[in-house]
Amino acid sequence: MSESMTEAQVSEIVKKVVNRIVSSDQKSGGTAKEKTTMPEKGYTAVSYQGRRYFGVFETMEEALEAASESYKKIRMMSVEDKEKVISQIRKLILEDAEIMAKIGVEETGMGRVDHKTLKHILVANKTPGTEDLVTTAKTGDHGLTLTETAPFGIIGSITPSTNPSETVLCNSIGMFAAGNAVVFNPHPHATMAANYAVDLVNRASIACGGPANLVCSVAKPTMQTADVMVKSPLVRMLVCTGGPGVVKAMLSSGKKAIGAGAGNPPVIVDDTADIPKAAKDIIDGCTFDNNLPCIAEKEVFVFRNVRDELVYYMLQNGAYQINDAEAEKLVNTVLVKNDKGKLVINKNWVGRDARKILAAIGIEVGEDIRCIVYETAAEHPFVQTELMMPILPVVAVDDIDEAVEKAVQAEHGNRHTAHMHSKNIDNLTKFARAVETTIFVKNAPSYAGIGFGGEGHTTFTIAGPTGEGLTSARSFTRLRRCVMTDSFRII
Ligand code: NAD
Repeated sequence: MSESMTEAQVSEIVKKVVNRIVSSDQKSGGTAKEKTTMPEKGYTAVSYQGRRYFGVFETMEEALEAASESYKKIRMMSVEDKEKVISQIRKLILEDAEIMAKIGVEETGMGRVDHKTLKHILVANKTPGTEDLVTTAKTGDHGLTLTETAPFGIIGSITPSTNPSETVLCNSIGMFAAGNAVVFNPHPHATMAANYAVDLVNRASIACGGPANLVCSVAKPTMQTADVMVKSPLVRMLVCTGGPGVVKAMLSSGKKAIGAGAGNPPVIVDDTADIPKAAKDIIDGCTFDNNLPCIAEKEVFVFRNVRDELVYYMLQNGAYQINDAEAEKLVNTVLVKNDKGKLVINKNWVGRDARKILAAIGIEVGEDIRCIVYETAAEHPFVQTELMMPILPVVAVDDIDEAVEKAVQAEHGNRHTAHMHSKNIDNLTKFARAVETTIFVKNAPSYAGIGFGGEGHTTFTIAGPTGEGLTSARSFTRLRRCVMTDSFRII
């Protein structure tokens, strides 16, 4: 990549690439979901609504081969070259945030376009790049020892349906900043959204003279394509963002793996909290993208002496309260029994609007209703199940010990995320120590924990089980030591 490339030259290249995409789509008809092959070797792409997807391959074997070629090119890129590509990725995400939000909602039927747009903007602005990588030096009588953050090589990444393009984009920036190539096996029900993001990253790379298949994916991901990816000797690291089943499968693969698994974040509200604010924060967090984020508030444990006030202010902030009979109907709608007789979520209701969920049990409400609140006991399946829909069970407790005990139990040892509204430092500390979650948010909506209205970087891969926490470029590196004896010490 030329160092003297101007903005105008970059935008000229982008224009040419876009024209080529459009003209070749026109030649092939450009119909939605049509599959075509680019004339250039290695460019296999699917089209969706008139746009071609770069880096998307028919088979996992082809994707792996392309990633292997790209890795060689990435190894030759300077930090400055990488940052140019990352800046361009950020720019394109900001331009296409709403388009990707719309594709995500349209394809999966889950979430909200306005909130998904914000999630993409967050990824563009707050995902760390190469600045996240820090070399450490140790000097002494025997000279200098450096520890540097090196790439793994090709990373195989499995992404969820709940944040499909957000996860691909966030992973791409971090993994590439660390010098890796990536192959994605996206969720089969969110392929268009995920692969739109794969294409966007590659368009950014092409515009800056980087590899055409900076990140790769498959047009039709399945368990078989995931299996090929996991077993390929080319893949040196696995990163898995999803539910317990897939995380367990990846951690059993025998390869270095990062597991970002399920949560069921509890919220405690004690009687020192600013109750009107707590109610609003909880409803804002719980309803963000219709409760799809794994960090979102899933159940509330509130001191009995402030419960009525909390629920009152929740109702002032777009919540609708249901009674026991209505809750029973809702249980039979949004939960189903699995083959072992256990109640699990009915995926058809994940990420749906509260109004639609209420309509399914015969309750019509206005547009202002965004959350369903139900006062219940800690044993209720709405408390115990990670619903990922805007249904919020509220459990009354007598004191902090009961609150902590019940909240820790409801979190199921995921050690993912927990929230608390309180001004009592002892209570806050007691819960934080007991629950041991990767993220603990105090007196704010859950999304403050991923940098939205809170300090710190963002990620959509929160690795509790394997301990990387909120992943960033440095999570995707291996440490290498370089030793020089007796020299390079200046004191
Ligand atoms: P999911 O577990 O249904 O699917 C995740 C991916 O794994 C998909 O691509 C799926 O096809 C694939 N998959 C499933 N089983 C597999 C196996 N045995 N081998 C290979 N691939 C397999 O998850 P989802 O419904 O898309 O996402 C929701 C879940 O993910 C929730 O539990 C949520 O908490 C969790 N999640 C966690 C984080 C985090 O950062 N910790 C982020 C987002 C979502």
